[in-house]
Parts: sequence; C-alpha cells; structure tokens
Amino acid sequence: MTQNCYYTLRATTRILGIFYGNVNLCRRLHISKLSETHQMLQNTCREFSDNELKPIAAKLDKEHLFPAEQIKKMGDLGLMGVYVSEEYGGAGLDTLALSLAVEEIARGCGGTGTIVSVHNTLYVGLIDKMGTKKQKENFLPSFTNGTAVGAFALSEPGSGSDASNMLATAKRENDCWVLNGTKAWVTNGIEAKAAVVFANADKSKGHHGICAFIVPIPTPGLSLGKKEDKMGIRASSTCNLILEDVRVPLENLLGKEGEGFKMALATLDGARIGISSQALGIAQAALDCAVDYASKRISFGVPILKFQTVQSRLAEMAVRLEAARLLTWRAAVLRDSGQRFTKESSMAKLASSEAATFVSHGCVQILGGMGYVTDMPAERHYRDARITEIYAGITDIQKLVIADMVAREYGLNTR
Ligand SMILES: Cc1cc2nc3c(=O)[nH]c(=O)nc-3n(C[C@H](O)[C@H](O)[C@H](O)COP(=O)(O)OP(=O)(O)OC[C@H]3O[C@@H](n4cnc5c(N)ncnc54)[C@H](O)[C@@H]3O)c2cc1C
Repeated sequence: MTQNCYYTLRATTRILGIFYGNVNLCRRLHISKLSETHQMLQNTCREFSDNELKPIAAKLDKEHLFPAEQIKKMGDLGLMGVYVSEEYGGAGLDTLALSLAVEEIARGCGGTGTIVSVHNTLYVGLIDKMGTKKQKENFLPSFTNGTAVGAFALSEPGSGSDASNMLATAKRENDCWVLNGTKAWVTNGIEAKAAVVFANADKSKGHHGICAFIVPIPTPGLSLGKKEDKMGIRASSTCNLILEDVRVPLENLLGKEGEGFKMALATLDGARIGISSQALGIAQAALDCAVDYASKRISFGVPILKFQTVQSRLAEMAVRLEAARLLTWRAAVLRDSGQRFTKESSMAKLASSEAATFVSHGCVQILGGMGYVTDMPAERHYRDARITEIYAGITDIQKLVIADMVAREYGLNTR
C-alpha cells in the first residue's frame, strides 16, 4: 500500500513534469503550504512511520536494536537516498523532501531518524555530490536500496567541536593511502558497510592537509570499538572506528587532496537540516502524546486539557515547534535553490533541537508520574531529544556560526 502510494507519487510527478530536483519548485514553494508532491511524500512517510516504526520504537530503544527490516523497506521506498540521483538508486528528490521524510520517520522512532538522517546527508548524499563515477558505482547502489548503511567519521576522542585538530593520519604509499588513528562517536558504526573517514595527510598544512577517504567495512586493520550505551536514540549504534595501517586504494580519496575539511564543513551544513528535521519529529511525537493524554486524564473531575496552565504549556510547545519547522523548511528551500544556507541551517538546528528538548520536557510534565515511566513514550522522547542539541555541531558552536554570519551582514566579523 505504502509502496504503491510512493510509486503513484513518482508517476504523478513525472506526468505533471514537476521534477523534485527542480529549483523552480522550491522558489514557488509557499512556506505555509507544501506542494502536492511534497504532501504525497509526507503522507507516505507518515503512514510508514505509523505502521512500521511507532509500534516497535519502545522495543528498539529498550533492546538497543537496529531496525534492519525497516531500513530495507525504506530503501525500497527511496528513503535511503532521498536526494541521490536516480541513476544510483536514489529517489532524486530535494532537501525539503528529505526534511519531511526524516521528520516523519523520527516521529515514529527517534533513533531510526538518526540512522536515516546521517546515512542520507553524511554518506550517500556526500558521495553522490563529490564522488567520481566509479566511487558512485561502487559505494551507492547497495546503500540507496537499504541493503547497507553508511557512516561519517570526522570526530575523534580528542576533537569534536574542534574537528580540524584531528590526530588521524593518511600517508600515501605506492598505490594506496595508509590510514591510522581513532575516529569517535561514529553513528551507524556497528552496522556500516562503508564510512567516509577524515584524516590529515600533511600536518604542516593544518586543516588544509585533511583529506576524506571512502573506507569499505570490513577492511584489514579496521576494528570497531564497543557499542556506546547511550541515553537515547538507541536504535542507532555509535562506536569508535580504530584504524591501524588501513590501506585503501588511491581512487578512494573523496574530492581533492587537502580539501577534506572544507568538504566536511559544507556537508555538515546540509546534515544540520537533517538533524533539525529529526528534532521536529521527536517534538511532534511529544506534542501528540501530550495532547492525547491531556484530553483523557481526569483530575478534579475534568480532563486536564480544561486547565489553563496545561493549555498555556501546550500553546508554548506548539509555537516553538512550528517556528522551528518554518526555519527548517526555509533552510531546505535555500539549499535546493543553490543559495548560501549556512546561517539558516545553523538557526534551524539551534531552534529545532531546543524546541525538541522544550516540547519533550513539557510532555513529561503534562503526563505527571506517567511521564516518568517507560509505559508511556514521553520519557523516551525526552531522552531522544537531548542528542539533537549535541551532534552535527553542538549548540554553542551553532551560536558562534550564526553570530559570525550576522556580524558579517553588518560588515564586521567576530574573529
Ligand atoms: C550519539 C552521538 C553520535 C554522533 N555521531 C557522529 C558521527 O556520526 N560522526 C562524527 O564525526 N561525529 C559524531 N558525533 C560527535 C559529535 O558531533 C560531537 O560529540 C560534538 O560535535 C561535540 O563534540 P565533543 O563531544 O568533543 O564536545 P566538545 O567539543 O569537547 O565540547 C564540550 C563543551 O565545550 C563547549 N565548547 C567547545 N568548543 C567551544 C567553543 N569554541 N566555544 C564555546 N563553547 C565550546 C561545547 O559547547 C560543550 O559544551 C556524535 C556524537 C554523539 C554523542
């Protein structure tokens, strides 16, 4: 049913001659109303999320399970390569489509939202944009069809926000690159069949020495650290990648030598729209839960929804969520129209992640004691929301980026 709906969506789009990648579609987007095609995608993802993810989200969280079957189904639906070209098995859609899809998936399961967002924006999206024909042929089709997931390894135990200060090294030896070092916090690390790994090939050049490599997994010399035992998003695995004389062919260099860090920063601008969308999904799930509970819980003889304090809390939750959603869609539309969107994606990520924490906190509060136990999803939303303020650039770093861009608009700079 869902799949049929999606194929109908694709067919309708073609008949109308409105292609998802079409820049004009974005320019014509009225922010208050989605285009028919985006609405169809949203409905398809919503239905998938309600039927396939929401019923198993608590189990995935409790048992730290990777939803392999659902990832495969999402591959069949085109959701594991939302803006990857159709030539390599992607759906050939746009960033707004990615945002809508990730929001709906995260509404059903926050951890699955992480898997899909990271895979799309930091692995397949990056290789589709920067890869050679051969790299795309080798490292995209089985990843866009949901058979395999990919990872992005930039952070290290000693450098997160300060990622350019990485210790991992790359040395050119005859017909290959030899990689050494430890990459930390790698999302999808346990299941990934390949990762884009960043290492410095010439420390004397500082961050201009950093290069990106596509590393197949398993590969000799590469081992995985322990699976991190996380507060939330537990359907998504996180671990270290340990590189000891890992040899990759010269042709696995992604982009140009020395341009890896620039590429990482540009890729993270897009990834922030994905994480922002994940935060929206978690917040929406928390708001849904809070409204439903407030309409059913009787206190002092009436549903608690009748109390003005509860109404006031719900109103603030809804406003923060909607404001964050508009910022996220705006950043997506700017990216799709080829304009600069660094400030907007940082604003979206900052607002959405704080909204997710605020809304899920409000949800726990409205549920009272029931908000604090695992019988209800409120406490899971609260735990899942928290990561969105940390990864893909922690809140303080988003503020630095935004402040710098604002200062520049006044002909100043913050450095
Ligand atoms: C579950 C999870 C998944 C992740 N997935 C990935 C992944 O797939 N790939 C990847 O590469 N990384 C990943 N990360 C890493 C993540 O991006 C980093 O944790 C994040 O960037 C913060 O870095 P840090 O943990 O080293 O904190 P730090 O950078 O050490 O920050 C610690 C504190 O210092 C503050 N601080 C640091 N620098 C400044 C500054 N200049 N100004 C003001 N305050 C500052 C921070 O705001 C923070 O409060 C993941 C992390 C987690 C927890």
